[in-house]
Amino acid sequence: MLEKVTNHIYKKIVPLPHNPLREINVYMIIGHKNLLIDTGFHRPECAKALQEAFTELNIEDTDLLITHLHSDHCGLIGNFINAKTNIYASETDGELINFEAGNLYWKMLDDLFIKYGFPKADFGSNTDIHPGRKYCHDKRADFVYVKEGDVLEYGGYAWRVIETPGHTPGHICLYEPNEKILIGGDHILGTITPNICIEISSENPLQQYFESLSKIEKLDVALLLSAHGTPIENVYERIQQLYAHHNERLAEVLHILAGEWKTAYDVARDMTWEIECKCWEDFPKPQKWFATGEAISHLQYLYFSKKVFRKEENGIYYYKKIQ
Ligand SMILES: [Zn+2]
Repeated sequence: MLEKVTNHIYKKIVPLPHNPLREINVYMIIGHKNLLIDTGFHRPECAKALQEAFTELNIEDTDLLITHLHSDHCGLIGNFINAKTNIYASETDGELINFEAGNLYWKMLDDLFIKYGFPKADFGSNTDIHPGRKYCHDKRADFVYVKEGDVLEYGGYAWRVIETPGHTPGHICLYEPNEKILIGGDHILGTITPNICIEISSENPLQQYFESLSKIEKLDVALLLSAHGTPIENVYERIQQLYAHHNERLAEVLHILAGEWKTAYDVARDMTWEIECKCWEDFPKPQKWFATGEAISHLQYLYFSKKVFRKEENGIYYYKKIQ
């Protein structure tokens, strides 16, 4: 179903099959030029949903903006690669998206996780571990790179690009200052906490995420259109909840590291998770992966804040609380 959000802005809920997120909200800004924001996975169900929206809106051409590199946001990029379409992204995530189209990216990400203690035995087959690998695009795009402060005019609005690294190193939002609308990608979600995970080009993503939350706090936002869940009315309250969540997590991780040296994987195993599994061993492989990524981002934040030691042994990082 296509939903009109406000003048010239529509939301289409695109299904994400076999994924705990279930669906993504893509937004379409309609005018003499159109702009689609994010695409869904590289799957026929997602392509069908987009086509239904185009038919309903009676449009044939649209430019495309990718908020960040995750495959539920850029999976169908290949369908938009043609001479007429501008495909916008930040340079950081744009380069990673093109890099993702080859196997080297996934190999580097695997090696990074191994460095943080993720056991090879838990990888399973290459596509088991990470939904991004299954439903990722397979073509390289010739992006129009956008950066902080750039303005994109669509639907009678002047959208300012806001760089919000954290959820990914090159995550971007669009902000319309006159109408106080923020199109927020996965930066701030209402019902779930955005996963803050290490990437091959970021060492301290949680620090970046905190800075990006504080950047949004300074804007006047009346309506936040996020990529998952319902629109958020009180952005500032939600930002405080997100700070509180991560500060609790940091305290929990410090507590876990009070005794012996542990890897990020060990810490993830010892953290509490809202998942219907009896024990860590029962976690599905992708959930172990995301949990470890989340543990890494908190550990790295504590390491750079000089709250924990980090040592490397046989190519693997271990952490311990500084007493
Ligand atoms: Zn994401």
